[in-house]
Amino acid sequence: MSEHHTAAGAGKPKMALHTRMLIGFVLGAGAGILANLFAADAGWLDTLVTYVTDPIGQLFLRLLFMLVIPLVFSALVLGVVEIGDPHSLGRIGGKTLLWILAVTSIAVTIGLLLVNVLQPGLGLPPEVADTLLAESSARSAEIAGSGGTISGIDLLLNIVPRNPVAAAAAGDLIAVMFFALMFGIAATVIRSDGTRSFVGAVQGIYDICLKLIGWVIELAPYAVAALLFSITAVLGFDVLVQLARFVGTVLLALGIHLFIVFPILLRVFGGMSPLAFFRNAQPALLTAFSTSSSSATLPTTLKVSEDNLGVPRRVARFVCTLGATANMNGTALFEGITVLFLAQFFGVELSLVQQGMILVLCIFGSIGAAGVPGGSLPVIAMILVMFGIPPEGIGLILGVDRLLDMCRTGVNVGGDMVGSVVIGRSEFGQGTDKVAQASAPPVA
Ligand code: ASP
Repeated sequence: MSEHHTAAGAGKPKMALHTRMLIGFVLGAGAGILANLFAADAGWLDTLVTYVTDPIGQLFLRLLFMLVIPLVFSALVLGVVEIGDPHSLGRIGGKTLLWILAVTSIAVTIGLLLVNVLQPGLGLPPEVADTLLAESSARSAEIAGSGGTISGIDLLLNIVPRNPVAAAAAGDLIAVMFFALMFGIAATVIRSDGTRSFVGAVQGIYDICLKLIGWVIELAPYAVAALLFSITAVLGFDVLVQLARFVGTVLLALGIHLFIVFPILLRVFGGMSPLAFFRNAQPALLTAFSTSSSSATLPTTLKVSEDNLGVPRRVARFVCTLGATANMNGTALFEGITVLFLAQFFGVELSLVQQGMILVLCIFGSIGAAGVPGGSLPVIAMILVMFGIPPEGIGLILGVDRLLDMCRTGVNVGGDMVGSVVIGRSEFGQGTDKVAQASAPPVA
């Protein structure tokens, strides 16, 4: 990703990916708004959208979809194997799992509540929303391989796939997740040479997926320009106002999680003053913010947890390493808000049961997302399709994703450190406050 570039681009410096994405956003939206103002009914605009900008956007989305199943499968299997491995601390593993599920649920709930209260996606005239939906839902159904939305008792039954290959082919993410979890559990229980080499191969699949995401994200600037052009050519300037409301909602939700939920957890379960935590955790939070990658931040997270926060080494190593790929509070919250925002935007009604399903999908979707810039985008695209929401909406989000990615990655890494403090204290019985408040110079 971007950090690779800097290394690879010795000689001829390359413009940072996020700068290119921003340029794509401005060019696409600017040209789209002009087209909307001066040539809304022109035949050439229709041709341009149908044969140029739409296919470019579709290509990008297809590339993202292509990676979802192998990525989510491998990430979940590896996550379970690591938690269940008796050599890698079974009891701490159990606590970590509990922590991830509980705190991620809180994060998604905050996101879903806020998006329901603030309704940032509402505001498009219904007839425009209908047209948009009619135009793109056929395509999203085609990508998903299923035409309808999910409802009722089937929602629960569908969690268990009759045929995992068919579930994967149909893009049924939750069924694939269930299968991956079962697979991971069984692979942990049977410790044979066969299962060990299987886990090695799954690690290989995961590493390859990360590389591929890196390549696909390289195309994002063009996709942003194309998708933004298509949508603003139809909707004009209003769409950008709604986008600003979306950004505001995500930032508010992330802020609540970082500055209200984490401090409460630190005080109640971690025996640490939130102020001391933020002062000492700063280097890792800033690294996360500037790299937008939990994985790239991991060495700093580890060092900060051990040296600045006083977390015992075995706990820090386990919780932060697993957390870098599996514990993503900010990502889960962002996924929930994005899915509901786009549902509101396109006028797709979601029942409470469906929102409950989205909550579960976001929890596991954040575990299955890669800790790299834009790692959650494939998962979001897939969830959108599952609920009949046009995945083209991703184009809107992409334009502002860098800022949101920086902020949610900060929350992701913050969650890993809070988790390591709390679990460290529960294992070793004493508060870590003393250590944290000691005047140890922060790791740079
Ligand atoms: N960039 C995030 C991380 O590395 C993942 C994402 O939400 O895209 O934690």
